[in-house]
Amino acid sequence: MPLDLPTMLWVMTLSCLVLSASVLFVNGSPRSDDGMAAWGWSMLLHGLSYPAFALRLYGWLGASILLANLFASATMALQLLAIWQFQRASVPPLRRWLLWLPVLATVTVGGAFMHDHPLRQTLLAGCGMLQAGLLVWQAGLPGLRHAHEKGRRLLWLGSLGLMAVFLTRALLVFPGGDWQRQVSIPYEVQSFTYLGALLVMLLNNVGFVLMHKERAVAAQRELAARDPLTGIANRRALMEALQHQVAVATRRQTPVSVLMIDIDFFKRVNDRHGHLAGDAVLCALAERIGRRLRAQDILGRYGGEEFMILLPHTDADGAVRLAEDLRRQVEQAPIAFNGADIPVTLSIGVHTRVPEPGPDAGDAMLAAADRALYAAKTSGRNRGEFAGA
Ligand code: GH3
Ligand code: MG
Ligand code: MG
Repeated sequence: MPLDLPTMLWVMTLSCLVLSASVLFVNGSPRSDDGMAAWGWSMLLHGLSYPAFALRLYGWLGASILLANLFASATMALQLLAIWQFQRASVPPLRRWLLWLPVLATVTVGGAFMHDHPLRQTLLAGCGMLQAGLLVWQAGLPGLRHAHEKGRRLLWLGSLGLMAVFLTRALLVFPGGDWQRQVSIPYEVQSFTYLGALLVMLLNNVGFVLMHKERAVAAQRELAARDPLTGIANRRALMEALQHQVAVATRRQTPVSVLMIDIDFFKRVNDRHGHLAGDAVLCALAERIGRRLRAQDILGRYGGEEFMILLPHTDADGAVRLAEDLRRQVEQAPIAFNGADIPVTLSIGVHTRVPEPGPDAGDAMLAAADRALYAAKTSGRNRGEFAGA
């Protein structure tokens, strides 16, 4: 089915302008450093490249060649900038300048070989391939590899498609053809280019927007799981981790341990040294305890001055030993704040079990650890107590 090129020109122009306006409108700022603004402007230039191409239909061949290639090449430069910014916000000035070298090369080739159609087309396709290759390279870098995986894959695929479009264009143009037909470029080449460009544009735009969405969701999830003061897991994340570890331990029939830690007479710390000192003590403790744990252990802030530690694959001996280590370490090293040494002691409730299948094994573990903590408090504080199942 033959493609109508003027229709394709309109479709591409309007689609790009709508995308550009949408991205810039939603982004709000014309100069944001997360890549969104650069992407919005790139779509504007992309949209303008098609009317620039159409200028040759009205006899403005020179201006058409220069402008269409300038816009198309600057589109890719801005998209590369957008990916860089997405990855690491600030782009060094030298890189920002280097970005425009391929654009300069493209315009120079367009001007120098204006009247040698096959050679110009081939060289320009080469320049385009180089820029598309940079996009493929940047979209595939480790900074984007693990997080935000799916949107990145679309962008990478789209950029690879763009390379393929330029490559095919170069291969198809070089053997020559009826150069006078369809404004100097064989019709088949031109329609292939437009269809390819449309697909690539869709993939790249969806990919880039989804990359941002995936990152925002990941950041929200991270934020929802962290205690804002100490940076360790909050109660919600702790409860999720407890359910998960209990399920794993039930399936494998391995022991899992819980430590409930409460700072002794913490109210006095606040009263004597102020709430800022109290906050500093909480942060220092979270840091100190975290340093002592294994990678698989989970430390979180259960409530005000209460911490909880979840120890997967840990029997009662191991859990009690850890509790005693922590208690001693904290007792022996007061926490320094504003020139004052603030002595702190901990009461710790320890509970271990090989959970039985059932819906409330996690709650039962919490209750037992809490019982043990209460026993530690009532029998003098600054001590660990163990509660069996
Ligand atoms: P006990 O040995 O019985 O545990 O005595 P305590 O004073 O530690 O116990 P209590 O539960 O009565 O007091 C806890 C205090 O912890 C009260 C509250 O002001 C303080 N607290 C809770 N959250 C924070 C916080 O985020 N920052 C500060 N600075 N203090 C907090
Ligand atoms: Mg308490
Ligand atoms: Mg307390």
